[in-house]
Amino acid sequence: MRRVAIYVSGLSFLFSVGLLVAGVARPKDGGDRTKVEASIRGFITAVDPERMSKHLFYLAKDPLPYRKLNLTLPGHQKNTLYEADDYLAGKLEAVGYHVEREGVQVQAFRRDTTKPKNAQYSPPKPEDPWYTAYNLYAEKKGRTHPEKIIVVFAHKDSQSWIDSPGANDNGIGTVGVLEMACVLAQYTPECTIRFLWCNEEHTPWTSKTAAQKAKARGDDIVAVFNTDGIGVKTAEQTAAGKKTNVTAYTKPEGKRLAQLMSEVNDRYAIGLEQRMVERSRPGDDDGSFVLAGYPAAIINIGSWPYGDPEYHAEGDVPERCDIKNAALTVQATLAAVVTLDQGL
Ligand SMILES: [Zn+2]
Repeated sequence: MRRVAIYVSGLSFLFSVGLLVAGVARPKDGGDRTKVEASIRGFITAVDPERMSKHLFYLAKDPLPYRKLNLTLPGHQKNTLYEADDYLAGKLEAVGYHVEREGVQVQAFRRDTTKPKNAQYSPPKPEDPWYTAYNLYAEKKGRTHPEKIIVVFAHKDSQSWIDSPGANDNGIGTVGVLEMACVLAQYTPECTIRFLWCNEEHTPWTSKTAAQKAKARGDDIVAVFNTDGIGVKTAEQTAAGKKTNVTAYTKPEGKRLAQLMSEVNDRYAIGLEQRMVERSRPGDDDGSFVLAGYPAAIINIGSWPYGDPEYHAEGDVPERCDIKNAALTVQATLAAVVTLDQGL
């Protein structure tokens, strides 16, 4: 789901990385900087589009055509979203993470077929079934500033009101965040890096709980990277072979992260057509964090406005995903996260 009401702002580079988190950042000297940049190049190289593709087809085609609480495959014990949760947790545990689950009560959306195809979700009635949806967390504790937290996340569920595989929305972001967690599995960060998979195609969005509970605990979240629809483009952009990423932000603190995305894309020659836009109000799952009091929050998305002609439709299948584009966005996001982590 997404709310679209924004205007486009040009690229600018007013802030260096060292100023990203005012009062905390300390620029590295030459030798340290060279070492950090070499390690970032190593992480960029480690991103594997084939591994991402394998996960995506598992989660959006076979054996799991959907990821929703209100659909259990014939002969299976668990609904398809719980099966997806188990798959993600298994992959994370295999590379050494401890996975925590946070239960949130949600309902499936009803479907209103009188509305346009991409917006047929409609509110459930109170008597509709309630389900426990889980936020999944995997964390790397910081060595120097464990109290400073960088959140990297995606919504993992597919549309509850329609039988769409939700490959671009948002199987692709789900496996993008999994790839980042796997590439950073052996990394010892300076700050805490928190990977989160939430649910946004059921109601209420479970990112709200994640953000509000973080605020209630007093978590010092310094940056939030939402990963949704990465590599998604219009039919024209796809035909032209474009590799795009749009970073949308709501607040000035988010704009600095958007600028960082541009900087790392250039510095490491990642090759994205990278642009940034300002939202007119908080939206998507990054908006849940902005509304909870964490203004340094962005979304990385392939196009803005969202260009997928199969958006929220049965045709959002994994064969249509631009995995190479998504992998470039994962590389840039990883580079931004580690740059930020090392600058603190
Ligand atoms: Zn959606």
